[in-house]
Amino acid sequence: MEFNHLTLLYFKLGKNYMLDKKRNNKIVYSFKCPSCKEGIIDIVKSIYDLPDGDKMLILKFECNTCKFHKNDVIPLTTNMEPGIMTLHIVDDDDLKSKIYRSPVGKLEIPELELIVEPGPRADFYYTNVQGILFRFENAVSIYRKSLEEDDPEKSEIDELMFNLKQAIDGKFKFTLKITDTQGGSYIIPQDKSKYTFEKIKKKELE
Ligand SMILES: [Zn+2]
Repeated sequence: MEFNHLTLLYFKLGKNYMLDKKRNNKIVYSFKCPSCKEGIIDIVKSIYDLPDGDKMLILKFECNTCKFHKNDVIPLTTNMEPGIMTLHIVDDDDLKSKIYRSPVGKLEIPELELIVEPGPRADFYYTNVQGILFRFENAVSIYRKSLEEDDPEKSEIDELMFNLKQAIDGKFKFTLKITDTQGGSYIIPQDKSKYTFEKIKKKELE
């Protein structure tokens, strides 16, 4: 997927238009490297103007200590406007759909009653659907440990954990929804037929 995007970019740019012709290089986020646990990873956002008028966003992750790095290329035409993005996850493949929840985006899985409220803090979600499920699983298991042995909520939590595991294995159908009132969040579906985008009109935002 990642490779395909890059290939597409090179293809569109042609040989004379090298990657260093980027503009608007901006560090958008920094966090501790998960690989070496010492370095800091800066996420650098660059926007490329393509000769045909399209724009591409490149997110580059690079650790300043170890060799951990990652690139991703997102066509900006995908979505930079406020709206409600809905993805139906039906099989394994859908779990690979890419997700970026911007700090103003609200992310929900209604079938599991799981919600990430908008917030600028540690809730940076740049991952795929499965990555989001793993984060929820982690958060729920931490919450479960905090409950007393005889807490009646425990059985509910166990059921949720069971469903989350099924979802991670592609055996539980669900909906992933992002509501973004400012634009910036996006979903890149593996299967476009399972994705819908509903614009939020300015009027509704006021
Ligand atoms: Zn590192």
